[in-house]
Amino acid sequence: RAKEGGRNTFRFYSPEMDADAARRLGLEVALRGALEREEMSVYYQPQISLDSGQMLGMEALLRWNNPDFGQVSPLEFIAIAEENGLIIPIGEWVLRTACQQTKAWRDLGLVPLRVAVNLSARQFRQPNLIAMVRNVLAETGLPAAALELEITENAFIDDVDQAVSICRELKQLGVKLSLDDFGTGYSSLAYVSRFPFDKIKIDQSFVRDIIENPVNAAIATAAIVMARSLNLSVLAEGVETEAQAKFLRGRHCDSMQGYLFSRPLPADQFAPLLLGTKNLPIFDEEREHAHT
Ligand code: C2E
Ligand code: MG
Ligand code: MG
Ligand code: MG
Repeated sequence: RAKEGGRNTFRFYSPEMDADAARRLGLEVALRGALEREEMSVYYQPQISLDSGQMLGMEALLRWNNPDFGQVSPLEFIAIAEENGLIIPIGEWVLRTACQQTKAWRDLGLVPLRVAVNLSARQFRQPNLIAMVRNVLAETGLPAAALELEITENAFIDDVDQAVSICRELKQLGVKLSLDDFGTGYSSLAYVSRFPFDKIKIDQSFVRDIIENPVNAAIATAAIVMARSLNLSVLAEGVETEAQAKFLRGRHCDSMQGYLFSRPLPADQFAPLLLGTKNLPIFDEEREHAHT
């Protein structure tokens, strides 16, 4: 955090800052061998249709459990991995693991299942991103239409034209694209419409107090209207209560994700959730893709 003050900001040193710096350094060292020591795992959180209540798919969320640091939040360690470049091998591992798992679940007969994987800004700009995604799909046998990539706006700010062309190349592989954490950046309608997104995800900070806070209710509603006008589907993140789900359904939000339905779960605990939804109809979108 101290960095954010910038070069010309005068700061007092405090023991707290030393502790922060020491933790960061420790995390950075521990992160280097984390994959090899099998400290990483992928959890899955269901994404639910607000119409039918059925599971449409799940988001893959990375977890890191280290003997010294315990469970470290991805908000903390992904920022470090972004800076030192470790996000590249880690991100590829997450993608491969999530695709493998999803393929295995689909082979059990859970055909319409789709998985959403987060791509950080640095991953998005890595030169061999397209080849990497294509290889992982080929190796795991997961149909491209069953993979969704979640990207946040900060991946785009540097060079919008280049970002649009990377997104188009990804779309040509047949994968779906979602704009994650919508509402937290500067995205305007004009900006979003330049990108070939399939879905926007309304950030949980607007969903959290959607019932009590009329401003956030208005923002969420506007985001839904915008998505619909652009023919995008729209998912609300962080839905924790029935009242929130009802509000969103009333505003014609398509889908939701949140503790109301389930926390992110390790694969073995997620499987029983899937078995309860075995008779899902095949998505229209997937049928369309099969024809093209
Ligand atoms: P995100 O992609 O926006 O993921 C949603 C976050 O909201 C997850 O936090 C999830 O556990 C949490 N969440 C879901 N439902 C609820 C709810 O009802 N209430 C509340 N309060 N929270 C809920 P998590 O797993 O800690 O991940 C945080 C962020 O770290 C993610 O935000 C994503 O930006 C990043 N991240 C996680 N896994 C990966 C990964 O594999 N690769 C990359 N590049 N980033 C990742
Ligand atoms: Mg996400
Ligand atoms: Mg999000
Ligand atoms: Mg987020």
